[in-house]
Amino acid sequence: MNVTGPANPERRLADAAAVVERCRRCEIGSIRQHSVYGEGDPCAALMVVGEGPGETEDKLGRPFVGRAGELLERMLLAIGLPRANVFIANTVKCRPTYDDGVRLRNRAPTPAEMANCRPYLDEQIAIVQPRAILALGAPSAKSFLGPAFSITRQRGQWFEGPAGIPLLATFHPAYILRMTGGELGAAKRLVWNDLKSVRGKLDEQPRAVTQPNEQASLFEV
Ligand code: URA
Repeated sequence: MNVTGPANPERRLADAAAVVERCRRCEIGSIRQHSVYGEGDPCAALMVVGEGPGETEDKLGRPFVGRAGELLERMLLAIGLPRANVFIANTVKCRPTYDDGVRLRNRAPTPAEMANCRPYLDEQIAIVQPRAILALGAPSAKSFLGPAFSITRQRGQWFEGPAGIPLLATFHPAYILRMTGGELGAAKRLVWNDLKSVRGKLDEQPRAVTQPNEQASLFEV
């Protein structure tokens, strides 16, 4: 019997990560180098959910540590949230790949892979109990809001996410990094509005979150 009461969120996340590390529900579970459970503040006010680990994440076992991760960190800092103050996860915990004959390449997770991994994501949300969820990109948003969700038409709007937690979707940083010129400027403005909306939602229910950095009013790509 546990006489000290339920394990703290940090411990529960560590236990859940160990279960994920042993998971072989999908073929990619046997191909990946490391599972990428997720990381951050176990009591974060904001949970960020991306699509799935890429090559660098697979190598290091940590989410959003490649170029997209660097941009994500700047985006979060622009609304006063250091990376360590949020919890960062993905819809799938193993890198989805295909073999092009030369090397393993990234691909989008399949619906079956997302379904297999869903209990792990739901469990993370239940442990962290964030005040808001930020879904990055269409696959992440659709995994919460259904296949009809349109990232171009519905990003920036608040929806009821899992367990009634407010959820907003915005463009994935990797998508922004592929843009240039006027298209890039327009996308950055939309994402900046979305980020400010996230900040506003967190401020509606004050909790120990850092105040926005006025100097970083628009993140740099
Ligand atoms: N893109 C994602 O969606 N997740 C990561 O962890 C890294 C890149």
